[in-house]
Amino acid sequence: MMNIQNYVQAQSLEEAYQLNQKRNARILGGMLWTKMETGNVGTAIDLCGLGLDTIQETEDQFSIGAMVTLRQIEQHPGLNAYTHGMAARAVQDIVGVQFRNMATVGGSVWGRFGFSDVLTLLLAMDTSVELYKGGIVPLETFAAMPYDRDLLVRVIIRKAPLALSYQAMRMQRTDLPVLNCAVANVNGAYRAVIGARPGKAMVLRDETGLLAGGITEDSARAFGAWAAEQVPTGSNARGSAAYRTHLVNVLVRRGALELGGM
Ligand SMILES: Cc1cc2nc3c(=O)[nH]c(=O)nc-3n(C[C@H](O)[C@H](O)[C@H](O)COP(=O)(O)OP(=O)(O)OC[C@H]3O[C@@H](n4cnc5c(N)ncnc54)[C@H](O)[C@@H]3O)c2cc1C
Repeated sequence: MMNIQNYVQAQSLEEAYQLNQKRNARILGGMLWTKMETGNVGTAIDLCGLGLDTIQETEDQFSIGAMVTLRQIEQHPGLNAYTHGMAARAVQDIVGVQFRNMATVGGSVWGRFGFSDVLTLLLAMDTSVELYKGGIVPLETFAAMPYDRDLLVRVIIRKAPLALSYQAMRMQRTDLPVLNCAVANVNGAYRAVIGARPGKAMVLRDETGLLAGGITEDSARAFGAWAAEQVPTGSNARGSAAYRTHLVNVLVRRGALELGGM
């Protein structure tokens, strides 16, 4: 169990940032991950009063506040129109509706969890994060950064022309994924993102041009086989490295074929 000594509802991002500089302080998202940890938190910092709970859509981008829930992502008409319904597909098996009503985008992205469906989905698009001190950083860069004491303010998705397919393999619905995978065409360039390897999601770009001549059964198969050779996988309770490598091949091929139909 986690023991919290002091709770503060921050009145500004600056206040939240300053409070968070103490080593035993903790920003609160939905607290669903945090509550499973043990130990003492000096000051728990709640961002719920800072207006970070909305998704703002403009002609060029989506701006998703850190306190937006996964359920809002699942139900947002604009985001799902842009992602061809894949935003909803990516999060729909994360535990259950009550859980997704509480789990936040900020906590999910900040966590950079290896198994994350959210990270895999977002890496498939032209996504950046806005950090309070660190400014706007491409998500791919952020995912590789060490944890520090900054604040994630919002996630920004630039509306580049997009085709996107999301696939995940779970032993049973609502369990953590054995592997997840997004295949996308962003502004004419193909990429595959593989997560739950079980390591953190990684982005593969179609550098060898396997899909450059268009998506067919053969090119999708070749892309899947190539991806399986590139992606390091590992074993854990949910599956062996060999099984995951097989899944990379299958899910990337299926994703590419789904893109071909869009
Ligand atoms: C049982 C269980 C099953 C899950 N299954 C899945 C799954 O299948 N797929 C999937 O993708 N995810 C899964 N998750 C992860 C879940 O979706 C959330 O990503 C996770 O709970 C974190 O979100 P939260 O809002 O609860 O964050 P919290 O638990 O509140 O925070 C998590 C961490 O992020 C920090 N943090 C939060 N917000 C910010 C911010 N704005 N700036 C800086 N730091 C911040 C916190 O200090 C903490 O260290 C699961 C989680 C649990 C507990």
